Amino acid sequence: MHLLKELDEKNLTGIGQELYRFASELYPICRSITGDGIRRTLSIIQGRIPLQISEVPTGTAVFDWSVPKEWNIRDAYIKDARGNRVVDFQQSNLHVLNYSAPVHAKMPLCDLRPHLFTIPEHPDWIPYRTSYYREDWGFCLSHNQMLALEDGPYEVCIDSTLGDGHLTYGECYLPGHSSDEVLISCHTCHPSLANDNLSGLVVATALAKLLSGCDLHYSYRFLFIPGTIGAITWLARNREHVGRTRHGLVLTGIGDAGGFHYKKSRRGDAEVDQAAGHVLRHHSDSSQILEFSPYGYDERQYCSPGFDLPVGCLMRSVWGTFPEYHTSADNLDFIRPAQLGESLRICAAIFDVLENNRRYRNLNPYCEPQLGKRNLYRSTGGEAIGVEINARLWVLNLSDGKHSLLDIAERSGLPFSTISQAAELLRGSGLLSVVFDELATGTSGRRAGNVAKVT
Ligand code: ZN
Repeated sequence: MHLLKELDEKNLTGIGQELYRFASELYPICRSITGDGIRRTLSIIQGRIPLQISEVPTGTAVFDWSVPKEWNIRDAYIKDARGNRVVDFQQSNLHVLNYSAPVHAKMPLCDLRPHLFTIPEHPDWIPYRTSYYREDWGFCLSHNQMLALEDGPYEVCIDSTLGDGHLTYGECYLPGHSSDEVLISCHTCHPSLANDNLSGLVVATALAKLLSGCDLHYSYRFLFIPGTIGAITWLARNREHVGRTRHGLVLTGIGDAGGFHYKKSRRGDAEVDQAAGHVLRHHSDSSQILEFSPYGYDERQYCSPGFDLPVGCLMRSVWGTFPEYHTSADNLDFIRPAQLGESLRICAAIFDVLENNRRYRNLNPYCEPQLGKRNLYRSTGGEAIGVEINARLWVLNLSDGKHSLLDIAERSGLPFSTISQAAELLRGSGLLSVVFDELATGTSGRRAGNVAKVT
């Protein structure tokens, strides 16, 4: 599989615009960790990729947690004495404290005040606030909106329901030759916020679509789940199977203009950590690798000590470090088509490395084999001859059964694709043989189950 090549042959500008259009379609939906917003979102994604939808009843025990009540909302407003909606859910779904219990009452501003949330530093923005695990009600509004409120009284209405129901998540499974899996996870629980995390949803959907047409070595599992409780629920229901996860990526906040950030898995030396670091160094202008920390997105759950899965997190700007984070300014102007397209490209490049990374043994290890007599001392591809020969010499030298192609790419400073092409050529000339797993005991080893594809 060479996903990047396939992507580069397509119109990446057009793909970026399509990703943006898809984000725009999902943007107005009022999502939460449960309820019809998430169902509607999943059913739209299901129109593009095969998605198995699971419904887990309220009260189901999932490790130390339990599936919460289901939340749905039809309308919400604060009306002044003249009947004007001074805060209106129909204008922005961020206006309601997400997961608000129902309320319908008349009250003066002084009583309403403790239920109002604003951002004084950005007086025109509406904050995004939630109250999942402590029953409450409230409104989020711009600070200027709040300053304009008179003493009241106000009619306050949140037409929501909070009761027994289900937690909903979607799963797209693409079988490959190996039953070992690559896990891609993104959270679907935020309402009208674009970067966090419609960017992750649309890129994951496009990746699943792209991969579904490929001859895959690994099997791929895409999870579209509510943050935290969704990952916990999925892990609780798949505890016996998660050992199949060989590599994983949480995708979030990948539509903004910031440089890429990759947060390593808890292991820190997983193959996906090495692959993401390599790809970002070679394919993006400015990027940063972050060490693991037990705070952030759903990598927290996948990397909890009982699981310790090799799952990292790909972001552009890091959550909490930009003022638009969790506010109405994380809107469709904050993400751009080209940035979404480039994020898709980076993911494709990471998967290419994972799919094609393997170990070889040099069958002619005593001094250099004579490349000239095998027509290997001249250029065959687009690279400069020096680079091609250099790559062949690196592959021959380090193919001792211990170094993977990615190890060789890292040590030589050459891009993985150049090393991988050189290895393919050398194997075709009978100078290398594939090494299976008896030697690959490191974190980046391939298991015996992978044999079929790599020979
Ligand atoms: Zn968030």
